[in-house]
Formats: sequence, structure tokens, C-alpha cells
Amino acid sequence: MARQVLLFIDGAWAPALGGDFVDVVNPATEETIAHVASATIGDLDRATEAAQRGFAIWRHMAPAERSCIMRRAAEILRSRIDEIARLLTVENGKPLSQARLELASSADMIEWFAEEGRRAYGRLVPARAPGTLQMSLREPIGPVAAFTPWNFPVSQVAKKLAAALAAGCSIIVKGPEETPASPAELIRAFEEAGIPPGVINLVYGVPANISGHLVPHRVIRKVSFTGSTAVGKQIAALAGAHMKRSTMELGGHAPALVFADADLDAAAKHLAASKFRNAGQVCIAPTRLLVQSDVHDAFVDRFLEETDKIIVGDGMDAEVTMGPLVHERRLAAVEAMIQDATAKGADAATGGRRIGNKGYFLEPTVLVGAPKAAEAMNREVFGPVALINRFSGIDAAIEEANRLPYGLAAYAFTRSTATAQAMADSIEAGVLGINHMAVALAETPFGGIKESGHGSEGGAEGLEAYLATKFVTQQAG
Ligand code: NAD
Repeated sequence: MARQVLLFIDGAWAPALGGDFVDVVNPATEETIAHVASATIGDLDRATEAAQRGFAIWRHMAPAERSCIMRRAAEILRSRIDEIARLLTVENGKPLSQARLELASSADMIEWFAEEGRRAYGRLVPARAPGTLQMSLREPIGPVAAFTPWNFPVSQVAKKLAAALAAGCSIIVKGPEETPASPAELIRAFEEAGIPPGVINLVYGVPANISGHLVPHRVIRKVSFTGSTAVGKQIAALAGAHMKRSTMELGGHAPALVFADADLDAAAKHLAASKFRNAGQVCIAPTRLLVQSDVHDAFVDRFLEETDKIIVGDGMDAEVTMGPLVHERRLAAVEAMIQDATAKGADAATGGRRIGNKGYFLEPTVLVGAPKAAEAMNREVFGPVALINRFSGIDAAIEEANRLPYGLAAYAFTRSTATAQAMADSIEAGVLGINHMAVALAETPFGGIKESGHGSEGGAEGLEAYLATKFVTQQAG
């Protein structure tokens, strides 16, 4: 019998009040493998009431005690990596090795914030009048509504959950309906670690109904969303209308600039691995590869060699390095962008077609010389498609890198310190990797600018997102 994934509200797992479930499909086989409960407004109201009670308990628990529960949850998660990775792979499609890495990095995130939460210090401000104590206090902002996508079903939840809990907030997570089982197991780890009822609540359902109810809700004080720019704008507008603080992690269209003095082998290796990870369904995946003319052809050859090594198939097979796209609509959207680019003059140096007719598999695709008018050069592709174009001088490369309204990740490969510095000075992005790709770690700030969103997750900045400042001034009575 197909598995059922339930809602977690007020410390208990239960079906939705209306009894509705939504099918969960394995993208490699197109088989229905599970059913996920779809919350009603009544369930959401139970969740907000629970989050309010949970907040009253959690905010007053000593940071050291909260830290202890979080570290225990991370330990439980680590001990189950193999088991949960399988659930993640059959729902999302990514290779098992990538699912394991995602779980390990989620445990890492929880551990890091468990420590950082102990250091949410305020400060004393020297007073003008004698006998006066001026205190700037840091307080948890309150119950959070968090919306997370299917591309990293566990780590996208872990990022928001870990920072919110570390700050002393309670949270309602709307998890991804396409991939619900693995985030539910993350929450189960916290349940077993002893998190008090109501501090974490997990719901699934019709996304617009859930955000439409939770974002304006009087109990909710903070909104955090990861997903597309189009949906992010709607949720940010709703949050603004109700004066809720928000963090928006939205889409990207990362440029990667490869200069003539770069280590071409390393650049091709890093960029191909990063491009095709999770079948390209990653907001920081390099998409526009801009290569200096003198080395353009040599780089294309090396990048194609790396692309040729990719083994596409069911992520449960040990040798597979790239799985299917997550659902049919992504396959149709990416295929349409490839067709549009080739019709407008791009050369499909490799790939471009669906593989087989069962499962949402697409060939790793390299498009060379796509014109700026191609849709893929302007809209987030979110699939296994690399666009390689040439540039001559650094100014033209910077202009192209900054041309789009996105500003999430960017990359550059060069051996010149001056060029590296010019990149740091002029590229419009929230994160920039120079000669490597490690731009998202627990201890470093991660987030976009322009239409890629606002706010940071990760690092001290990630904790800050869930804290409010209260100034208290006191004289002896
Ligand atoms: P989509 O825009 O329909 O959904 C994206 C995510 O937002 C999903 O998790 C969905 O459940 C959620 N969502 C949609 N409408 C919502 C609403 N009104 N309220 C709350 N949540 C809502 O797109 P899709 O086809 O699922 O994914 C494709 C696009 O999503 C990509 O092009 C990419 O831009 C974006 N995306 C970005 C990330 C990221 O990490 N930034 C992750 C997944 C998807």
C-alpha cells in the first residue's frame, strides 16, 4: 500500500480534518508512491493556535536547553541518513549520493544554529545620565510561517527551522507536496529529540490557500519563502500589506565568467558538476557560462567532455549521477526553452531531448551561442541546460552578467587577483564564488538581491532574520 504522509500539528501526526490526500509520484517511474494530507483552514487554525502556545514555551526555555534539543535532533537525523535518503530520492529523483549529502548538510545546519542561538546577545549602551541602564535586547520575533520547495526537500526546511528555533521562535512549515516524506522525517527527528508540542508544525495542501491564510494571520510575525520570483512577489506583497517581516529566497540565473587566464580544466569540472547537480533544479546553478574568446572553443570541448561523463537514470541506481526532473510540467517547460533557443540560432552541442517516455528524464544539454532574445537567456531555466557564450573584454562580460533582473549567485574563474577583485566590486549578486562553487554553507550568509529576493539564510545574518530589537532604559526606582 502507498505510504501516507500526515500533518504534524501540536505535537501529533494526523490526517487533515477534511480527510483529503494528494498523490505523490516517483518522477523516475511515474508511479504513485504515496499520498500526502491536504490541510483545510481548520487545520491551519489549529496550527496557528499550537504555534502560539509553542512560542510561549520555547521563547522562555534557556538557550542552552534549546540548543541541546536541536543537537539531539541533528544526531537522530544523522543516524537515519540512509533510510531518509531513499525516501528523498524516490520522491525527488536526485541520486542517492546527493540525497545523503543533503541530509548531512541539514544536520550540519541544525548543529551550527544550535550553537549560534546561544550567542544571540544584546548590548549595553553607555547612558547620558548617571544611574541609567540602557539595554538593547534581542528577542525572538514570534511564530513563523515558512514555505519550502521540492528541489531540496529537507535542507530548505532545515535552514529555516534551525534559524527560527535557535532564535526562540515557533514555526509552521508548509512543506513541498511533491516531496513530502523526507521533510516529515526531519520533523520526526525533532519530535523524538523532545521538542515541546506546538513549537514545530508541518502542513501540506494547496499552496495559495495556505499562504493566503497564514501570511495575514495575526499570530504569524515572520514569513520566509523559497521558490520562484513570481510567487515570491505575491507573498512579499501580502506580507507587506500586513506589515510582516519577510525573507525571500527566489529564483536566479547565475552567470559564470571564465577568463582566458583561468584553469580551464578546473573551471569545466566545477561548472559541469554544479550545473547538472539535481538535474539543474538549483537556484544557484551556473546557467550563463560566459567565456573569454581566446579560450572559448577549448572550454566548450572540456565542458562537453565533463557533460559526456554524466549517467542519467533512476537515482536509486548507484552509478547514476543525474536523475529525472521533478515533475512533468518542469520537463515541458525546459524542453520548450531548448526548442526556442535552437529556433533562434543556438547550437545544441549536446543533448536537448527527452530520454525515453517513462519518467521525466532529459538529456544534459549544452547550448552554444544562444542569442539574448532566447527565452532561456532571460528566464530561470531550472533544468539541466548550460548556455555557453563568448565575450572579449571584461566590461562586456560584467554588463552581460548584470543584464538580468536576477541577482542570486555568480561565479568567476581567473588566476588574476585584479580580475577577482573587479568581480567582487562589480557583479550584482548576493553570493559570488571565485574559482570554486561553495557559496552556501551553514556559517556563511546566503541570499539574493534584485528580483532574487531579500534577507539571508545561514550565518549570523540567518539568525538575525528571526530576532527583533527591544530597547529598554532603566533608572533605579
Ligand atoms: P511554482 O512557482 O508553482 O512553485 C514553486 C514553489 O512555490 C513550490 O514549492 C510551490 O509549492 C510554492 N508555491 C507556489 N505557489 C505558492 C503560493 N501561492 N503560496 C505558497 N507557496 C507557493 O513552480 P514549480 O513549477 O513548482 O517550480 C518551478 C519554478 O520554481 C522554477 O522555475 C524556480 O524558479 C522556482 N523554484 C525555486 C527554488 C529555489 O530554490 N529558489 C526551488 C524550487 C522552485
